[in-house]
This record gives sequence, structure tokens and C-alpha cells, in this order.
Amino acid sequence: MLGNYENVMDSCQKALTHCTLCPRECGVDRTRGVLGYCRNDSGCNVASICIHKGEEPVISGEKGICNVFFNHCNMQCSYCQNYQISSKQAPKKPDLDQWQEVVENIAAILSQGITAVGFVTPSHQLPQMKRIMKELQQRGHQPTYVFNTNAYDKVRAIAELENLIDVYLPDLKYAEPELAYKYSGAADYPEIAGAAIKEMFAQKGPGIKLDEKGNMQKGMIIRHLVLPGHIENSLECLRFIARELSPEIHISLMSQYAPTPLVKQDPEMGRVLRPEEYEMVLQEMDRLGMTNGWIQALESAGCLQPDFSQTTPFTD
Ligand code: SF4
Repeated sequence: MLGNYENVMDSCQKALTHCTLCPRECGVDRTRGVLGYCRNDSGCNVASICIHKGEEPVISGEKGICNVFFNHCNMQCSYCQNYQISSKQAPKKPDLDQWQEVVENIAAILSQGITAVGFVTPSHQLPQMKRIMKELQQRGHQPTYVFNTNAYDKVRAIAELENLIDVYLPDLKYAEPELAYKYSGAADYPEIAGAAIKEMFAQKGPGIKLDEKGNMQKGMIIRHLVLPGHIENSLECLRFIARELSPEIHISLMSQYAPTPLVKQDPEMGRVLRPEEYEMVLQEMDRLGMTNGWIQALESAGCLQPDFSQTTPFTD
């Protein structure tokens, strides 16, 4: 069911004049071009719109999902595979900062029979995301909406999405504040993301709903990227999910980590995952009784890196 976009947009537009959309709470007036931590103003700030077939099978479906990537990010993880667009220094794409262009691009992809739209890293772009949804609705499109977030989100922001978002696809990156601070400048990530994910779970529960073609219609999947040298962090993330939510929840365990230029020299993060490290994480999933979801093959490391300088960033 679609929600009341007008009310939501009013409150969000107000939020951009004193931006406290995300936990950074910068308090800047983005409508006047004053930039906070994420360095985005109040424009669309879309970096890429593309068909992506490499998500979890129930998300991509046979034809792929229309993914909308926003510029920049409220986390700035030093190892981010999307750094070409997520870094604060990444330049804007002027052609994708026009509302009409963005909506027409998405509509053109939907007209090819693709039934889902994924917003990637939308935490700092919630009013813009809602405006895109509203304009698509006005053109008669009602796709399945996927909220693909780093989970550095406020509980209130997630609560406001209850009737708008069909599928939550959050990361759970860190259980250790020191690690969250070192690589993402967000020591409070475990607490903030834990609360946001609990709110998503309260809305969706552990089950997922599929249509007759196997495309996901409702529910949530939690992604966890295993970081080399930080296996205890992964084990704690899984334990949190099993303990605070449910071992029945769908997990997408990812082994695709490959060092980006910023962390090439890092003694731990400057390499790919070792088989014995991944095995420890798999054994813990097993011990916790987590059997729902998807596990990436270890060989995925480095194979799934996008190139956002191309019109089609993914080779899938
Ligand atoms: S969305 Fe951006 S400007 Fe607003 S609080 Fe978060 S980081 Fe700061």
C-alpha cells in the first residue's frame, strides 16, 4: 500500500533546511547549498541508474532490478567498493541532477518489464527518494521498492518508511565500535544500526514474500560483508541478529571484499579474505541455526567490483 507522500515530503523538505536526517545530525541548511558530512545539497544527487542482475536472486529476479545510486554517503567507509560515487570527493553528474531526467530514466527501465526499484545508500537522500517515488506513482508506476541501506539510519526515519518501502536490504557492518570508528568514522554504528534494523524487523518480521516468479515482494534481508582480519566482528554481527531478531531471518553473507586504493596499505584490509576466515563465519552461522538466505562463494573476491565511469557499472 502506498503511503501519504504529501505529508512525508513536507516533513522531509523541512528536515533539509536543518538537516538531521541521519545520525550525523549536521544541522546544515542543504536547501541553501550548505553542506554537511555527506556533502549533498537538496538536489536529486543521483549518480547512476542501471539494471543490476547481480543482487540476491529474489531481488534481481530474472530481468534485474532498476537500481538508483545516490552520490556520496553518510558513512564514508574507507574500503567502499562504490568509492567512485560514494566518496565525498566524487563529482556530481549534472545530467542526473535533473528530476525529470531521473524519473524518465527509471520509467524507461520499468517499461522493459522490470518490476523493482532499489534505492542504494539512500539514508542521506530520503526526501529526494520520496520525491522520485511520488513522481513515479503519478506516472502510474508502482514497482516493488527496495531500501538498500548501510543501516546508519535513525529509527524515526525508518518508522516513516513503513508504508512506502516493501523490502529492506540493510547491511550490518560492525558490532565493534572501534572498527566502525576506524573505517567509517562512526563509533556509534553498532548501536544506531542495531536499533534501525530492529525497527525494520518490527515492520517486516523474519519471513519473505515472493510472487509467482520468485521475485521478492515484502520482507527483509540482512547483508554482512566479511572483512579480512576482523572475523570476531562478523561473528558478533551474526550473534546479534540471532539473539535480538531471529535466526530465521534471511542473511546474505558476502565474501566479495577486495581492497580499494585507500586501504591497499592497511595491514589487515589490504588483502582479500582467507578461506579459513570465511570458514569460521560459516561455522558460526551453522551453530546459530541460520539457514535462510545466501552465501557468496569465496571466489567472489574482487570479481564484483563496479566501475561507475561506465554507463553500465556492473558486468553481471
Ligand atoms: S544527511 Fe548529510 S547533512 Fe544531513 S545529517 Fe546526515 S550527513 Fe549531515
